[in-house]
Amino acid sequence: MPAKILVVEDEKNIVKVVTYALQREGYRVEVAVTGAEALTKVRQGMPDLVLLDLMLPEIDGLEVCRQVRGDARTSGIPIIMLTAKSEEADRVIGLEMGADDYLTKPFSARELTARVKAVLRRAAGAGGAAEVWRCGALTADWGRRLVKLKEKPVKLTPKEFELLRTLAQSGGRVLSREALLERVWGYDRSLEIQTRTVDLHVSQLRQKLGSEGKRLVTATGVGYRFVLPEED
Ligand code: CA
Repeated sequence: MPAKILVVEDEKNIVKVVTYALQREGYRVEVAVTGAEALTKVRQGMPDLVLLDLMLPEIDGLEVCRQVRGDARTSGIPIIMLTAKSEEADRVIGLEMGADDYLTKPFSARELTARVKAVLRRAAGAGGAAEVWRCGALTADWGRRLVKLKEKPVKLTPKEFELLRTLAQSGGRVLSREALLERVWGYDRSLEIQTRTVDLHVSQLRQKLGSEGKRLVTATGVGYRFVLPEED
């Protein structure tokens, strides 16, 4: 499957040129013309890369970047910022916020596709394309969001997936319900926290993990932990 790229830009001409250049290279392209639309499409469409203009109506590009990075589900999606020469300060902030690279307008189609290829290649390396996590009868390719039980794919909701990843990657430590809410659901401490939500999702996840569900252990009154194979 070719990589899917979300182009976030309100200037129609740029959208046209960029879309054409990317499609010619075989990429799938989606477009968002406002920051709000970008956030929706990132969360729903899970693109492989986001090309993000900084000057956008409603929510600006920096805020989009901050929210994409702040959400556990989308934090790994590479972002290339599209900036004007005059936006140097914003560019620096964007890179500090975790954007992977930037392109200064005007840029050529060749520059664009070279940068896109490089960032996608880096992302594949960082995500560990060949790195499959194993635990008993469970395997997971976190980068591709694939979880299998006895070689059969397990259908997890995005929240169940994040919950599993968070617990599995915490080295056997107990994570409190609050910590899980914050990491998986991205809840702010100021919001009313419903820890029961965590319990519900853990019990659903346990069922889906079948014989390996027993690895999700309840730490009474605190939270949960994931029992690693070396503890078996
Ligand atoms: Ca713009």
